[in-house]
Amino acid sequence: MKPNIHSLYLKLYLLILGTSTCFTGCAFAAHLDIKQSGLSKQQAKTVKLWIIQGIDAVELTLSPIPMDALTIEVIRKRYAREPVPYAQVERGSPTKVKLQVDANASLQELVDDWTLYHELSHLYLPYLDTPSFWLNEGFATYMQYLTMLGAGVINHDQYETRMQDGFDRGKARTRLHPGRLSDVADDMWNRGAFTRVYWSGAAYFAEVDRALIARGTDLTRVIGQYSQCCLRQNSSGWQLVTQLDQISHSKIFTDTYLEYYQRRDFPSISRGTLQKISQHYHVETGA
Ligand SMILES: [Zn+2]
Repeated sequence: MKPNIHSLYLKLYLLILGTSTCFTGCAFAAHLDIKQSGLSKQQAKTVKLWIIQGIDAVELTLSPIPMDALTIEVIRKRYAREPVPYAQVERGSPTKVKLQVDANASLQELVDDWTLYHELSHLYLPYLDTPSFWLNEGFATYMQYLTMLGAGVINHDQYETRMQDGFDRGKARTRLHPGRLSDVADDMWNRGAFTRVYWSGAAYFAEVDRALIARGTDLTRVIGQYSQCCLRQNSSGWQLVTQLDQISHSKIFTDTYLEYYQRRDFPSISRGTLQKISQHYHVETGA
């Protein structure tokens, strides 16, 4: 299901009315500030629509963005080879999401790009110690396609194929970046070991989510609760998984963490697990 064109026009109308925006159902009722530089009027409109769609999609799958204020800074990139070549979250008050965009990208090309969903997902967890970065990046990587599936941007087949493709790349890069996952994460920038770290973390959350689904709940519910009750700016990985266990009344997060942080191999996530996950979120969102 693609974003409804009528709701897009309604949002555009709301945007024209004022700079402070309340979205569908006013879920993200906090202050959103979109700063742009180098964009034409038309491009600025397109970028605003894209950002609102992205926030709606992430909130639909997770829960309201747990921030009182959020700044999104969009910088025009002249010769880009993809719609969003670079992005990062800068934590502070307010927290800032920085996005570089291809000035010529269409709304559909931007919506189809995973980057915005990934960056917004980062906002639901604290900034962790560097050996636990695989949890930060793993969560955002796990959520990027799940959010797109939940919002109908991609279908089941595309979801499963993209996840499988990510796991395959993570496995291939593990050979180039051997060592314990926490050590490789701690030195990720020096080693350039992003793909192994990101996708090992995504595998962790796939495994955890499947176990939670089997118990009648799921990851997005647990994270939604966590982000409302307990989110802080900084935390250790261990503290985070301990809190997530408490919320889920389980040992799933810590048990799986103890297995993952020191593992040297790339985890094996079956197609069956991906199917279970995509079926679950399909039913959940009614897409
Ligand atoms: Zn990230």
